[in-house]
Parts: sequence; structure tokens; C-alpha cells
Amino acid sequence: MSSSEETPRIPFNRAAVTGREMEYMRAALARGHISGDGDFSRRCHEFLERELGVRKALLTTSGTHALEMAALLLEIGPGDEVIVPSFTFVSTANAFVLRGARPVFADIRPDTLNIDERSLEGLVTGATRAVVPVHYGGVGCEMDLIMEIASRRGLAVVEDNAHGLFGRYRGRYLGSFGSLAAQSFHETKNFTCGEGGALLINDPALVERAEIIREKGTDRSRFFRGQVDKYTWVDIGSSYLPSDMLAAYLWAQFESAALVQERRRRIWKRYYDELQDWAAGRGVRLPVIPGHCEQPFHLFYLLMPDEKERDGFIAHMKSRGILTVFHYLPLHLAPMGRRFGGRPGQCPVSEDVSRRLVRLPLFYDLSDDEQTAVIEAVIGYPD
Ligand SMILES: *Cc1c(COP(=O)(O)O)cnc(C)c1O
Repeated sequence: MSSSEETPRIPFNRAAVTGREMEYMRAALARGHISGDGDFSRRCHEFLERELGVRKALLTTSGTHALEMAALLLEIGPGDEVIVPSFTFVSTANAFVLRGARPVFADIRPDTLNIDERSLEGLVTGATRAVVPVHYGGVGCEMDLIMEIASRRGLAVVEDNAHGLFGRYRGRYLGSFGSLAAQSFHETKNFTCGEGGALLINDPALVERAEIIREKGTDRSRFFRGQVDKYTWVDIGSSYLPSDMLAAYLWAQFESAALVQERRRRIWKRYYDELQDWAAGRGVRLPVIPGHCEQPFHLFYLLMPDEKERDGFIAHMKSRGILTVFHYLPLHLAPMGRRFGGRPGQCPVSEDVSRRLVRLPLFYDLSDDEQTAVIEAVIGYPD
């Protein structure tokens, strides 16, 4: 076996474990409540509501499911159009496509890689119902203009905040702008319970129906609060609530939020400081964080000069036992995106960035020595 096929010495990601996860899962077991909305779920909901200042937070089984709930709550259906960036994870679009809507792909800004707010106005038609800004890397989209256009054109805003928990735009938490926002607690995100997510609800008119849709279309949440004496089928719905075992795991992570974020901040900053000279000399661009945005240090990327160099860089790192990865393949060029009229040249910045971007390992327990090895390998490129 050649060295490049061995298990990498430094993985791209290791899921964060902050210490009390097993203890809290055992506590959930001991209480005998491991279905959804137990004590740990309640703690997670209150934490998110208090910290972010959102009206209501509901844990979901994934970030994808939080987006699906948003599409249900907004009653998106056939004939509707939803504007999404092409440079994002499939679920941003799929959640609305599942309801029969047509995704309309917007390009991204070359600096933050966020949806290009200046392109929005030109994409709105009489059928447009919603816009889904994705805060890439947790760096805020230009929410001032996005909210202004949405309110003037009567569109709902659903923030895909899968990367952006604790990020801020002009001092205000991401996830608190749109009528709805989706968080993800997948193991690649800053805080995780393996698979999980949350729907944040800022529009008070959507709170009650969100609880019903999440509980199989029943008013069970009202029943548990003693507001009705039996619960029954009142609306459409599905099962979007995670087990309290997973909420227990997540609660342990939330309790250590400051520690996790401080560690990630230090790792991010060290990459930025120590790679600057190398990047400038090689024509490599490092992440751009506008002054009015506070980021949650979700990812660190390099924009290489071209695709050949990007692929060469990944191979170079791999030969040193370090796994680096790229994302996203533009949605408008994917087989599914083409079915909605996607064609080459439609989102030129997304197409270009997708070929040149590479992400470095950035996770909670990446050690100083491991990071030194990553930095030395990067600076050693090309050999
Ligand atoms: C991770 C992610 C999602 C989906 O989250 P899951 O919890 O994996 O379903 C959605 N959008 C973006 C931008 C993501 O990075």
C-alpha cells in the first residue's frame, strides 16, 4: 500500500466531545424519558432562545428537516419559486423542491462566498415566495439589503444557518433575521449530536403550527402544557423531534459552548496569521471577514489560483497524511439542478470558486502539534 492510501494522520474532521456527553445521556436513560421533548430538549430550546434572542427554538432530527419544516410552514407548493444560492449543500434547495417548488439559483459574492444580494432583485418573479440566504462559514450575508428586498417584494426569508450558530451581522445573531432559520448539529458542525438540527422561529404567527407539524400534525405540545385535555390530529405533519438522548449529548456541548468557540477561534486565527505570507506569494486567497460580521469559526478555506493547483494541493497534503477536502459542486450544474434549467455560465462565481476552494482541518480537538504539521505541509506546497 502506498503512503497516500494509508489512513490520514490528521483527519479532516473529528466530532467534538467536550466531556459530559455520556453522563447526560445516562441521566436521560435513568429518568426513563428518551423520546423527544424531555428535560434535555427543553434545556437546549431555552438555551438557544435565550442566547440568540429568538422567539422559539425547536430541536429537529437534522438541519435538513428544519429546512423541510420551514417549507411546510410557509406552505410552499407547486408553481412557487424559491431563490437559493447555487454554492450550498443540497438540502438548502431540496427542502423546497420536495414541496413541488422550483429552485432559482443565485450566484455568490466573490469575497464572502455568500449569496450576491445585488442579484436578487433580478431573480424575483411573480411566483417567488422565499429567499434562502446561506451564511457561508457563518459569515453573515448582507441582511440589510436582503431583508429590505424581501419585505418590499413580499418574500419570506429562511436563513440556512447550518454554519453560523453564534455568528453575528451588525451585532445581531444570525438566525434571528428571517421568519425562520435552520441550524444543523451534524458531526461536521461546531456543535453536534451526530445527526440533529433546530428550527428557529422569529415570526410569532408560525410558532404554534411549527409545534404541530413537528409532532405528526397533532396538538400534543399543547396537551403536555395542559392547554388541552387530549391531543388529536389537527394538521399535516411528520416526526421531526429527536430523542432526548441526543438532546442530552447536545446539551453537554452547549454547556461548553464558550470553550469550543474559543478553541476554534484560536485555530482559525493561527491559520490566518501563519499562512498569510505564503498565500500572498502563491496567489492564494484566504477567507474575507467583513468588519460588520462576527464569525463563529466554522471553516477555514484556501482559494487556490486554479483547479489544477487545488487538486495538486490536495494530493500534496494527502501524501503528508493530512486530509483536506473541497465543496460545493454548484447546484445549478448538478443533474438535478439542470432539470430546473441550470446551465454552465449561469452562476460564474460559484462555478469558479467550486473549482478552486479547499478546506483545511479545523475541529475542536485539533492539537497544536497537529496544526503545526498542517501549516508546515501547506507552506511546503509546492514541493
Ligand atoms: C450541514 C448543512 C445542512 C444540512 O444539515 P444536516 O443536519 O446535515 O441535515 C444544510 N445546509 C448547509 C449549508 C449545511 O452545511
